[in-house]
Amino acid sequence: MLSKILIANRGEIALRVVRAAKELGLATVAVYSEADKDSLHVRHADESVCIGPPGSAKSYLNGEAIIAAARQTGAQAVHPGYGYLAENARFARDCINAGLVFIGPRPENLELAGNKIKAKTLIEPAGVPTVPSSPGPVRSPGEAVAFAKQRGYPVMIKAAAGGGGRGIRICPDENSLMEEFAVAGAEVKAAFGDDALYVEKCLVNPRHIEFQILADGFGNVIHLGERECSVQRRFQKLIEEAPSPALDPGLRAAMGQAAVKAARAVDYFNAGTVEFLLDQEGNFYFIEINARIQVEHPVTEVVTGVDLVKEQIRLAAGGRLDYGFEDLRLRGWAIECRINAENPDFNFAPCPGTVEEYRPPGGFGVRLDTHLYQGYELPIYYDSLMAKLIAYDTTRSGAILVLRRALQEFIVEPIKTTIPLYLKILDDPAFQNGDIHTGYIKKFVPEDEDDDDDEA
Ligand code: ADP
Ligand code: ADP
Ligand code: MG
Repeated sequence: MLSKILIANRGEIALRVVRAAKELGLATVAVYSEADKDSLHVRHADESVCIGPPGSAKSYLNGEAIIAAARQTGAQAVHPGYGYLAENARFARDCINAGLVFIGPRPENLELAGNKIKAKTLIEPAGVPTVPSSPGPVRSPGEAVAFAKQRGYPVMIKAAAGGGGRGIRICPDENSLMEEFAVAGAEVKAAFGDDALYVEKCLVNPRHIEFQILADGFGNVIHLGERECSVQRRFQKLIEEAPSPALDPGLRAAMGQAAVKAARAVDYFNAGTVEFLLDQEGNFYFIEINARIQVEHPVTEVVTGVDLVKEQIRLAAGGRLDYGFEDLRLRGWAIECRINAENPDFNFAPCPGTVEEYRPPGGFGVRLDTHLYQGYELPIYYDSLMAKLIAYDTTRSGAILVLRRALQEFIVEPIKTTIPLYLKILDDPAFQNGDIHTGYIKKFVPEDEDDDDDEA
């Protein structure tokens, strides 16, 4: 059994893991960069170790320093959070070789999930529908065009190693495919260290629906229902909810079964997410497995009552799953918005700075996952997620009302945030009717389409 764990992350997720570990009676070790010495995850952990300068490459991505910190403090396990080293198979292996438990999937799972082409080729034969795509990496513009001729436009260029929405390009016709393909490889190589690209049929205004998975080491794989994450900007999620307004019990059962099949096909272990697109005709297609705890995990926790981080720790320690989806009593509706330190009126430019006035929302139906406090200085070095606000009520319309009043209560001066954008969305009848898709946000930020062209 574990008694001390190290959290290899920062920000709200590091704090989230510290809290779960404490509730399990575990001692906690935080690691931090020089820019984060006054962070809440450091303050709330029992011990902390500085692992390097502010830049992520030398601190939160510095696996050697993190493993050394675990050795030095006697931690027996490492929780990687999301982002950073969470899906790095080499880091997971290094932890295991150092005698540490990696609180996450097996290194083999991380390798497979990290290569979307490979994952699709294993999952499709298991009977899970996938979006039609080139059978392997596409090495030349000519090959890309040949696929598109066969399947029809629009198509998408995607990176086999992609994540966080980066490297995805929509190509409406042959000219754009030739042009985009020529520059995509270099960009993807710089971002992911792997330039393998593939071409996929681009669905028109689909919904993004994903299933939370848990798997133990004894062959039990379960799902905990879906999350709808269709409100996205530049392929990154902004608002997530559970359940999805688009699913009925039949479709939920079919997609949940497909998600479990996908996880079994790759011999999955621990917590993960199987992502699907749902087209306007009600057909669903697998796109990828995310082999980590996800940013939006709280909406599942709120409606199922299952603490997913505690489950990750319990399963990593050899625990068994003795329940299934049918044993859970799903309650009501949860909606999360990712509050970023960005200015939505200024092309979402990051807005770091010092929080001079901080008044978090509270009350019935509100959960706030954040590392913010009065006087906190948002560092310039890291991503701009500063809080996740989750609202709960027995109905979706009730959850929208709770979320709206909680957003109105939230004061983080003088930081520019995405709160005003969320207030506009919550007032939109289409959102209120659950009438959303992955292109939904364009009516609020139409300039985005031009920006994509500029970047190309
Ligand atoms: P989720 O899939 O849980 O919604 P995101 O896709 O927004 O989460 O990613 C969560 C965090 O992990 C973000 O900070 C994102 O930049 C980072 N991330 C996701 N995938 C990768 C990857 N393959 N490589 C590096 N960072 C990634
Ligand atoms: P990442 O690893 O960056 O999260 P995903 O493959 O999960 O990449 O796709 C991210 C988002 O891009 C999806 O949620 C969806 O909005 C869009 N997308 C991905 N593939 C397709 C597709 N074939 N057709 C239409 N949209 C897609
Ligand atoms: Mg994804």
